[in-house]
Amino acid sequence: MPELMPAVRKIRPRRGLEMTEIPRPEIGSHEVLVEVKATSICGTDRQIYEWTPWARHRCGSKIPFTQGHELCGEIVEVGSSVRERRTGQFVSAESHIVDYQGEYFRRGLAHVAPETRIIGVDRDGAFARYIALPWQNTRPNPSDMPLKVAVLKENFGNAIHVGYAVDVSGLDVLITGAGPVGLMTLLIVRALGARTILISDVSRYRLDFALRLGADEVINPKQDDLVEKVRDLSPRSGVDVLLEMSGAPSAVLGGLDLLRAGGHAVAFGLPEDPLTLELSDLIIFKGITLHGIVGRRLWDTWEKMESLLREGLVDLSPIVTHQYPLADFDKAFETMEAGQCGKVMMRP
Ligand code: NAD
Ligand code: ZN
Repeated sequence: MPELMPAVRKIRPRRGLEMTEIPRPEIGSHEVLVEVKATSICGTDRQIYEWTPWARHRCGSKIPFTQGHELCGEIVEVGSSVRERRTGQFVSAESHIVDYQGEYFRRGLAHVAPETRIIGVDRDGAFARYIALPWQNTRPNPSDMPLKVAVLKENFGNAIHVGYAVDVSGLDVLITGAGPVGLMTLLIVRALGARTILISDVSRYRLDFALRLGADEVINPKQDDLVEKVRDLSPRSGVDVLLEMSGAPSAVLGGLDLLRAGGHAVAFGLPEDPLTLELSDLIIFKGITLHGIVGRRLWDTWEKMESLLREGLVDLSPIVTHQYPLADFDKAFETMEAGQCGKVMMRP
């Protein structure tokens, strides 16, 4: 009989998850087995938990599967061909399983390769005691890195990818959306020398969080008109860079309106529905460059991330605000849904 382990899985096509026992995974010759020490919840996890139309479409055919794609843990077994990792190493994981021999990877484009698969979405994920991963998907951490920092790396990598998409040094930046990724992006653009950082959100809790992390000004579009308020607050009546991290249509359109000619917009937040925009006035006649950002560049994003953390230029310790045992996953998701939180972490 294979050894059993607890895992939090999507078993039925409806809201919620279930904790069950499943066999501990077997590893292939190029894989490692990681004992999960901590996992955190992302917006995508929330969609799968809630079983939104997107989740039904994306994961409907994958049921049953173990959820979770953000993790750190210890390598407890290495495959017969693996020379690059050893047991006992403390690692964080990249969630995208890519074809390391493929053309997209060689061109630095694995994050947008059509064959790329995601743990906890396309195959068993991290809400479990153990997870099997290709060795390349593990990145060793300093052994004294706190779990609440190591667990963030996948999601922090999204923020790094956004923050480095445009050279922000000396520029005025507007971040729309102070969710966990927006907040981590704020830390990065601060470290990279942005001149002014304005950030908008509809949640007072998140705006206060952003002020504690060093935002120059915050805007609540429920209380003030975003465009008018930013024009008043920004030193040059508009911004050079828009980092759109909310997916809210009004933030996308208002943010593009606020860009000065020649500016850059980074689209990261995922709108729930298609949206209509005045391409000629908002993009073409102002000469705006629009960047679509997904995932992390392999491995450029990870190297930037590791060096920012090593040099102490970004402190991620305030980002995880709540921790639960994995068995209390329903409470963890309720905390996420209430929105009075930064990142929520769980421990198997
Ligand atoms: P989140 O949902 O916690 O953050 C979104 C924030 O936007 C929330 O704080 C919310 O209050 C705020 N918001 C809502 N309406 C707003 C408005 N009109 N103006 C300003 N802010 C508003 O999620 P997150 O984990 O921080 O992720 C941010 C976004 O990125 C989400 O849309 C998520 O789906 C998306 N995402 C994209 C990728 C990618 O690879 N491109 C990966 C993960 C997540
Ligand atoms: Zn995610």
